[in-house]
Amino acid sequence: MLRFHKALLTIALILYSCLVKSQDQCSLLFQHNNDTIKEWQSRLQQKGLAAIQTFKGEFAEQKKWLYQEKLRSVLEHFDKPELVTDTAANNYIAAVMSKLTPALKAFAPQEINVYISRTGIPNAFTPGFHSVFINAGLLTRVQNEAQLAFVLCHEMAHIFLKHGEEAADQYLSSIQSKEFKQKVAAIKKQEFGQGRAIEELFKKFSFDSRRHSRFKETAADSLAIVWLSQTAYSLGQVISCLEVLDSIDTDRCDTKKVFEQYLNAEEYPVKAGYFGTTRRSVFGAAAYDDDTESLKMKDSLRTHPDCRQRIAYAGTLIPEAARNTGSKFLIDTARLYNLQQRLSNEVIEFALSHEKTSRGFFYAVEQLAAGDRNAFVASGISRSLNQLHQAQKVHTLGRITDLPNPQFYTKAYNELLYFIQNATLTDLAKINYYFTGSALKKYPGCKELAGSMAACAGNAGKAEEAAYWKKIYDQQ
Ligand SMILES: [Zn+2]
Repeated sequence: MLRFHKALLTIALILYSCLVKSQDQCSLLFQHNNDTIKEWQSRLQQKGLAAIQTFKGEFAEQKKWLYQEKLRSVLEHFDKPELVTDTAANNYIAAVMSKLTPALKAFAPQEINVYISRTGIPNAFTPGFHSVFINAGLLTRVQNEAQLAFVLCHEMAHIFLKHGEEAADQYLSSIQSKEFKQKVAAIKKQEFGQGRAIEELFKKFSFDSRRHSRFKETAADSLAIVWLSQTAYSLGQVISCLEVLDSIDTDRCDTKKVFEQYLNAEEYPVKAGYFGTTRRSVFGAAAYDDDTESLKMKDSLRTHPDCRQRIAYAGTLIPEAARNTGSKFLIDTARLYNLQQRLSNEVIEFALSHEKTSRGFFYAVEQLAAGDRNAFVASGISRSLNQLHQAQKVHTLGRITDLPNPQFYTKAYNELLYFIQNATLTDLAKINYYFTGSALKKYPGCKELAGSMAACAGNAGKAEEAAYWKKIYDQQ
């Protein structure tokens, strides 16, 4: 009987191999080029060190030290495979940049380097040294090129107006101030709670050149609007872009519904208790009301806060008549959408390989909710559940997942974090086994799914199936 079973498996394996050869693989990621990274890294380092040498005047030495630290932390982005090196992707951004002539002229003969980060956090920032970083999390949300052009102009305006340097100067003078020194002296005399008091003091005087005051945000918006008004891009898209930024932290999916729709098997149904607090959870009942305090807290976490005020201010600068003129696209609609499609896979991959499993899992859940069911998203879900299973087994779950916190995270992400806290090893294994099994029927050529199935079938106690999928994985 066993021999018969094995023979069947072998036949299935041969049939499967033929089938697979006729199908595309599911790796929809960019190729990573290490030489490009090294080139970029040394270009930025040279540029940075040259800029640092020019510092003169009061606090010049401290400023040099501060900027060396800053340069070191910027260069960290080059250590992990965080930046997209794909030529077509970078050429596209360069093509959009080439349409922003007034901004480029303002910096000539120096050039601005734009880097695409694979991080899913929706943000763009300029760490100085004539460089702009735009995260995949933001690039995938802009609705057209004109909005992308505005984001780029806004960041370039921060550089042109030397907002980062101003912040550094303010920081250096504040820690040299009498007020700061007096506070440190007072804390030294304190008998208890010194540590906490120092922490509070540094929070008050902390330095983050990426966070700008409301005044600097509107100044950057104004200059960006002036630059953009001299290009062929639509000015009306500035306001639409700010609207997108304003809604960027709101939920795009309902976690429970995604589970019910995609991770619910007849043989192993989704349980009601997955998504709420239980005694295993260290946090109390969730409160998601957007009360003033939690809104304030959310806003303080953004590097570009105060979107509502920025929208009102931009409205005063852009006349009604100018809003419907200009183009949403000057380069190519398809190239932006193709880049966005690729990047939505990259955020899952980067989070699962280099950030936190819980985030990669969430990005994949968001994409399932959008009906975007490609093989890579399915394998992202499957890999997430395997990583969680493995970590829970060896008690290292805390390292790969955020903890639920209704004050910091949205309802949808919190629900996923509660699921991670509540699911047992059996839940993780069984849910994944049925999910991956059905995904493989849909995407039989996906090597990552086969590899993932080998692991989750094993976890679900199906040793023979695990061996079968392992063989398939090795053959591909
Ligand atoms: Zn800004």
